[in-house]
Amino acid sequence: MNISITKTTNPKQKPDQNDLGFGQYFTDHMFIMDYTEGKGWHDARIVPYAPLELDPSAMVLHYGQAIFEGLKAYKTKKDDILLFRPEKNMQRVNNSNELLVIPQIDVDDGVQAIKELVKVDADWIPSEPGTSLYIRPFIFATDPFLGVRPSNTYKLVIILSPVGAYYKEGINPVKIYVESNYVRAVRGGLGSAKTVANYAASLKAQVEAKHLGYTQVLWLDGVEKKYIEEVGTMNVFFMIDGEVITPSLEGTILPGITRMSTIELLKKSGYSVTERRITIQELYDAHAAGKLDEAFGTGTAAVISPIGEFNWNGNAIIVNNGKIGEVASKVYDTITGIQSGNLEDTYGWTQKI
Ligand SMILES: *Cc1c(COP(=O)(O)O)cnc(C)c1O
Repeated sequence: MNISITKTTNPKQKPDQNDLGFGQYFTDHMFIMDYTEGKGWHDARIVPYAPLELDPSAMVLHYGQAIFEGLKAYKTKKDDILLFRPEKNMQRVNNSNELLVIPQIDVDDGVQAIKELVKVDADWIPSEPGTSLYIRPFIFATDPFLGVRPSNTYKLVIILSPVGAYYKEGINPVKIYVESNYVRAVRGGLGSAKTVANYAASLKAQVEAKHLGYTQVLWLDGVEKKYIEEVGTMNVFFMIDGEVITPSLEGTILPGITRMSTIELLKKSGYSVTERRITIQELYDAHAAGKLDEAFGTGTAAVISPIGEFNWNGNAIIVNNGKIGEVASKVYDTITGIQSGNLEDTYGWTQKI
């Protein structure tokens, strides 16, 4: 794929590496590619970061036909730039596209676009421990048209945001509210797509959980509200009686790349890992029997987020005395070690730019 590059003549001042937060600052450039029915994806270009011009009737604004991705680039101590399994994100774009009736992209072209853009803005990648450059590809429908049907035109845009260390003051387990009123997705719905609609559907529950003092919600299945699905923006794992358990992918859960990597890593390290349906009652029973040793979430932003407390219908349980467990620590240290280049990548997960 040929990508034209127009560099900015007006570079921005870079933010303080110790105060980056998440998703607040954006680099000097962005990638854009257009899709037109009959012509395919065309006009791949890297241009100065700037607002997009959209017709007020652009279909995405009315019918929500849009998907996104999230991954990170890391600067190693040797000043190499590493990406973590970018081809998995681009494959997942196509899974999401399929469900949203958006045309497929070429996975290699998508990875190339990310690499070229990160190269152009390489001096934006922070180097302090735990920091990285967050990469946000997204696709949305642009036909200027009112009426419900798939769009005939789309834009694929990639933006970059330098982000701070997620755990500045050490890893603190989060408190999770088990949601038994609202639901995120149902079988046959959009749950396995990384699409904007799933986030719109999650806001009300999230706001109410925050109000009650909880960080995020744990979603239960949308039909019986019995089976555990996932946590906000993370997949979820439990260590019960020596076995690592994570909900199986039944079409309602986002197939996380950190989830996939965690399963591979733990299996290779000799743990017994089971993907299966698990009820919230089973979790509470395991806790009551003294067999729930750990709970943690997995996702690109935090990598691992230990869970110290669940509250289900006013019934609160504390996991592992509210501390990070051995399995979560091992996964966190290994994955972040590989991502940052501090540990040898024996899995072939990283790609050097
Ligand atoms: C992105 C996302 C995840 C985590 O996926 P990763 O590939 O590990 O970052 C989990 N759940 C939801 C709903 C997500 O959108």
